[in-house]
Amino acid sequence: MVIAIDGPAGAGKGTIAKMVAERLNLVYIDTGAMYRCIALEALREDIVNDKDKIIEMSKKINIKLSEDGKTFLNGEDVSEEIRSKEVTSVVSPISSIVPVREELVSIQRSIAEGKNVIMEGRDITTVVFPNADYKFYLDASVEERTRRRVEQNKEKGIFSSYEDIKQSIIDRDYNDMHKEVGALKRTNEQIYINSTNMGKEEVVNFILEKIGEVK
Ligand code: C5P
Repeated sequence: MVIAIDGPAGAGKGTIAKMVAERLNLVYIDTGAMYRCIALEALREDIVNDKDKIIEMSKKINIKLSEDGKTFLNGEDVSEEIRSKEVTSVVSPISSIVPVREELVSIQRSIAEGKNVIMEGRDITTVVFPNADYKFYLDASVEERTRRRVEQNKEKGIFSSYEDIKQSIIDRDYNDMHKEVGALKRTNEQIYINSTNMGKEEVVNFILEKIGEVK
């Protein structure tokens, strides 16, 4: 079984997908973490503006997502570092590079092979698994998504201004929706969820209902 979830930045895709994975015993795959690994390595190698070098690097890099939700880049646990402001600010343009996407999409398909998975990102319902058993688009207003991100940062002890976070979400969404390949899109095949006024449990139960796990 494949459950695919797409949606804009900060909509709660990761949190919700993890909760559904636990309930249904599925493998959770965070594709954003994989693009973030490429962005982190590009920053480390100081090649952020060199497309050819990024493409070359993306073919050699080793990315592993562990069952307990950690992300490994060439064997190093980078779960925290890939969430930094620096990585977040360069990941969207880097993920627009078509050969980088081709490389990661093929890895994403192979990770899911023979497993029951829940995969989230921007192009899962349209490119990676257009024939997924269930396709969702998880949304929320930009104000609510900003509020949630500011709260998350606060919990981690990071102070961030509401306006800065809001602008960075708006810019990233714009870029993600206007990519040549793998753009974030709404389609008629996705089940649309506007979670602006919904709690986490409510969203999870809605998804479980849609896939027939809760009557
Ligand atoms: O989901 P997350 O915010 O961690 O994703 C980081 C970035 O990676 C997104 O803003 C997007 O540019 C890129 N991405 C993508 N395709 C995916 C998942 C993420 O282009 N399937």
